[in-house]
Amino acid sequence: MSNPRVVVSGASVAGLSAAHWLRSTGWEVTVVERAPAFRDGGQNVDVRGVAREVLDRMGLFAAVKALNTTETAAVFVDERGEVTAELPSGGPDGATAELEILRGDFARAILDHLPEGVEIVYGDTISQTAEDEDAVTVTTAGGRVLRADLLVIAEGVRSATRDRLFDGLVDRRALGVTMVFGTIPRTAADDDRWRWYSATGGRQVHLRPDNHGTTRAILACARAEDLASLDRDRALARVRARFAGAGWETERVLDGFDASEDVYVDGLTQIRMPTWHRGRVCLVGDAAWCVTPMGGGGASLALTSGYVLAAGLARHPDTEAALTAYENWMRPLVDSVQKLPPGVVRLAYPRTRLGLTLRALVVRALTSPLLAPLAARLTRVADTDRPLPPLA
Ligand SMILES: Cc1cc2nc3c(=O)[nH]c(=O)nc-3n(C[C@H](O)[C@H](O)[C@H](O)COP(=O)(O)OP(=O)(O)OC[C@H]3O[C@@H](n4cnc5c(N)ncnc54)[C@H](O)[C@@H]3O)c2cc1C
Repeated sequence: MSNPRVVVSGASVAGLSAAHWLRSTGWEVTVVERAPAFRDGGQNVDVRGVAREVLDRMGLFAAVKALNTTETAAVFVDERGEVTAELPSGGPDGATAELEILRGDFARAILDHLPEGVEIVYGDTISQTAEDEDAVTVTTAGGRVLRADLLVIAEGVRSATRDRLFDGLVDRRALGVTMVFGTIPRTAADDDRWRWYSATGGRQVHLRPDNHGTTRAILACARAEDLASLDRDRALARVRARFAGAGWETERVLDGFDASEDVYVDGLTQIRMPTWHRGRVCLVGDAAWCVTPMGGGGASLALTSGYVLAAGLARHPDTEAALTAYENWMRPLVDSVQKLPPGVVRLAYPRTRLGLTLRALVVRALTSPLLAPLAARLTRVADTDRPLPPLA
């Protein structure tokens, strides 16, 4: 009997993890990626909870640790850059996790470690799918026709193939927060801490060290505005207007973004779906359940989903049973991150001076020795007592 065949659409964390684990369990794997070449870039992601075990089983724990961003702590600063509070870090969790890595480095590590025989097609997308009893036939815009036992969609939060094949089942919840991530030159004053500054008007500025000799910056703003669909220059012009007079290092970040090749704009949107599979098609990673940086753990869940999918398929010869097992295992992890405490956006993004003062009081309480264990729990994601399902 020939090996089963899978087409994976999207070559980032979720798609490459699925490719790794499915190839390891005997599948013929073709990955189709829209970008013309592997996509480096992107900012800090972390590997937490059960994803640490998946990484270990992949044989990549030490490699990912070695690619650490070098960040050692997370602090709140005021407009003069003085530290006003330090968030708990250290150990596997905490604001700065043990495994902090840039998205591009993470995806590259998984790519470089793929088992022999995974085919990757860059610069192509799926244009059509048709399913019969025995297979799903995938036609790409580039003219390939691939007949497979399974199609895995790993196209991230704005997945077009998901939208086509799961029409009416995609619940998009905009959180009313826009984040602009970018890479800027490092200065002598940048140290090994994540520095977090809040200004009135629901604005935040973050500076984080990286392992490439540059600084990773985020401008975040609590405002429902679709910047992600604008071209880069128009989006940055809007961000500049929005951050006028915000203080601290804002002007430096804005100037740095204007000159940066690596700017990523995201209007934080949760994806919620009643099911992540239909026939011979299933969703993994952000395409299925984007949790946004507000919930945290998107990269950990994406990595874990590839493993759990392969485990379901290895144990259940029936596709429906396998995809149901995958979904049942992943859903509690996703649900616990998607349920944001009420009022969390308002608390994280105060609009007024009074709001900033109240938020500072909450932070001080949470970082006190008494409540530090509670604060540490807030950063725990992909956390479960359940063992990973076996691969056979
Ligand atoms: C370039 C980039 C930069 C990012 N930067 C950050 C960041 O700074 N901070 C942060 O918190 N998160 C960032 N993310 C998101 C983060 O990677 C994900 O939340 C998380 O890792 C889950 O990964 P994923 O594989 O499910 O989705 P993603 O990492 O979003 O990957 C989706 C992949 O699918 C490809 N794709 C999309 N549509 C199609 C299509 N129709 N056909 C074929 N391929 C398609 C994309 O090019 C991409 O390679 C970034 C993602 C990308 C792609």
